[in-house]
Amino acid sequence: MRLNIVCIPGDGIGPEIVTEAKKVLNKVAEKYGHEMVFTDILMGGASIDVHGVPLTDEAIAAAKAADAVLMGSIGGDTNTSPWYQLPPEKRPEAGLLKIRKALNLFANLRPAVLYEELAAACPLKEEISAAGFDILIMRELTGGLYFGERKTVEENGVRKAIDTLTYDENEIRRIAIKGFDIARKRKKKLTSVDKANVLDSSRLWRAVVNEVAKEYPDVKVEHMLVDNCAMQLVKDPAQFDVVLTENMFGDILSDEASMVTGSIGMLASASLNDTKFGLYEPSHGSAPDIAGKDLANPIATILSASMMLRYSFDLDREADAIDAAVKKVLQDGYRTGDIMSEGCKKVGCKEMGSLITERI
Ligand code: NAD
Repeated sequence: MRLNIVCIPGDGIGPEIVTEAKKVLNKVAEKYGHEMVFTDILMGGASIDVHGVPLTDEAIAAAKAADAVLMGSIGGDTNTSPWYQLPPEKRPEAGLLKIRKALNLFANLRPAVLYEELAAACPLKEEISAAGFDILIMRELTGGLYFGERKTVEENGVRKAIDTLTYDENEIRRIAIKGFDIARKRKKKLTSVDKANVLDSSRLWRAVVNEVAKEYPDVKVEHMLVDNCAMQLVKDPAQFDVVLTENMFGDILSDEASMVTGSIGMLASASLNDTKFGLYEPSHGSAPDIAGKDLANPIATILSASMMLRYSFDLDREADAIDAAVKKVLQDGYRTGDIMSEGCKKVGCKEMGSLITERI
């Protein structure tokens, strides 16, 4: 298979971690007989330095022409970098918002996996973390409260702020379909999270999810109120497989789920549109404090590359090979500084990439 991949190395540790992910992908291509064509584009500070803007129209066109985009991270030190003296629409992060909008990325996927080998980093009690967990939080990304009309008015001398939460059934249906499709690739359980005891938008959410569920009789579906879900994520995270939810609930729950894994350098993510296209990136930022020092953990980016193979290209066997190689490296006791623990062997970004590549 020929895979046309646009890469955005970005800023800070971005170029280092993307290089390692490419190394792993090239090995996968060699082993399984694929051709990977990588095209790099500039975004964020790197683009500001060359073009004066965080993302050019040419870069967007290149991303649109690709099958998928693999990104490192963008942005600099927000206190010291001259990029942050620019007006907000010219700063590095504006490039990210622009590309998400241009590519119509409405579904955000964030896995929260507890690796047995990293259980010590998990802030939960041992009797809870012992069962391990592998959760995929699927968040609607372009609707709901963050995109509704908002205003602040003054009535009779009292200031009043209004935010509007709107979803139509098509917005709900398209993400529900994605959620069920992905649950089918996993343990076939989907927990839809809402606040249907209070909100009309949640009642519609629940109704549409139930309609879509009829097309997926092999996937077990349950509904959970968001407040209960927030509790269950720390009480019994092993019960979850795919968690499907709207924008604001997903924003909060995905951060909660990633914190219970305890290791930021391990967290991958994907943003998808209604075709097979997706943008894949680690959940962490550009870590300017350790950039260029060969200290970054490339695993979140390598696992994002694995998600790309699975969700944009349906190459599940190849994605499994990457996930297994990561697990094996951890089992063999190799750690970058951020996940280091006693008795393990400390390695840099490059060596971690090579160790994973060797295990493909
Ligand atoms: P950050 O995630 O970059 O760093 C937080 C801490 O985690 C730092 O101590 C860093 O060294 C460490 N860290 C992060 N990733 C690591 C890795 N792979 N390996 C080892 N250690 C790692 O968050 P921040 O410091 O708040 O933000 C830095 C810059 O990144 C800012 O400009 C911010 O806007 C940007 N940012 C970009 C994205 C993105 O590109 N999607 C996301 C978040 C933040």
